[in-house]
Amino acid sequence: MKRCFEDLCGTMDRLGVPRESKWRGLILYMRSIRDYDFLTPTQRERTQELVMEVLRKKDFSDEAFRRLVRDNEGIINDQWRERLTEALQDTAQLIKQFQDLLAHRKNDVQELSAMTLETIQREQPLDEMVRGIQGGFQKIEGLLQQDLETIVSMGLTDDLTKLNNRRALDAFLSRAITEAVASGKPLSLIFMDIDHFKKFNDDYGHLVGDQALVTVAAMIRSFVEFQAKLNSREFFPARFGGEEFALVLPEISGEEAVALAETIRKKIENYNFLVRDADGEVLSAGIKITISAGVAELHAGCGLCPGISSLLDVADKALYQAKSSGRNRVELYSKD
Ligand code: GH3
Ligand code: MG
Ligand code: MG
Repeated sequence: MKRCFEDLCGTMDRLGVPRESKWRGLILYMRSIRDYDFLTPTQRERTQELVMEVLRKKDFSDEAFRRLVRDNEGIINDQWRERLTEALQDTAQLIKQFQDLLAHRKNDVQELSAMTLETIQREQPLDEMVRGIQGGFQKIEGLLQQDLETIVSMGLTDDLTKLNNRRALDAFLSRAITEAVASGKPLSLIFMDIDHFKKFNDDYGHLVGDQALVTVAAMIRSFVEFQAKLNSREFFPARFGGEEFALVLPEISGEEAVALAETIRKKIENYNFLVRDADGEVLSAGIKITISAGVAELHAGCGLCPGISSLLDVADKALYQAKSSGRNRVELYSKD
């Protein structure tokens, strides 16, 4: 990366981009974001075109700078907006959970304080008193330790389905790709999306839609647990977002991943969903949900430079093939 920047600095010198000017920072920024995995190919392309246009025009005045930033605000900033909104929603939710946790603990500390006072007032022998108070503090210490663990997992868990969230998926996939490249072992990714879920929400309402997401997630999780028990395989399931789920399969080839995805697809297809009211009464039974899945194998179409987004992109393309071939099916990515 550093070498790449040095090359670009040389190019900017040759093209007369003034040193120490705002232009240099902007051009470096626009060039560097092409390496960001989370940008769509179109966003990357548009930013790179803009860099080329700046270098072609060679107008490095302040006025041109203001004009460029004003006219191309979308190209320069759009990529951040969506992520920022998502991150803000995520953070607001985390803060709420954190507040609930703290409120809970505040009650515990108040109880401890009352209990300590009561112990002292009871005028028991000193050693009994000390034991009682120490016990109370140890209990709080244990609860705080649990809170710490909860806070760490809160940041990596999807609130609704309790599966790993997108952040956890990114981190796992990044490690899994590095390991697969180093070991030469295969790595596959299944990308699943519920079919016609918009209609499902329209028919049964959003709350039932949420129940369905939880059930689908539970079926994916039980599949993973079964595979771990039966074959000692460590698969990584995650809610990618909305009604989309991802499953990372280290040391599994694309073909085998297709067979495993097919097992999950059938399991969900055969399941009879129930809709219950608030009192647990069954309102509707035998409701069917299906998923489509795209499978990608590392190296299969990822080029020489496999990254998180290229593997996800490839699985997403295969998913698109599954959707356009009629849904409720699994497709392995192929260049055709
Ligand atoms: P396709 O078969 O092409 O995937 O069609 P679709 O209707 O599933 O796809 P689309 O992307 O148009 O709609 C996805 C829907 O998923 C839209 C949104 O209302 C719903 N959805 C996303 N997140 C949630 C959620 O957390 N809860 C509920 N109930 N619905 C959600
Ligand atoms: Mg979708
Ligand atoms: Mg869908």
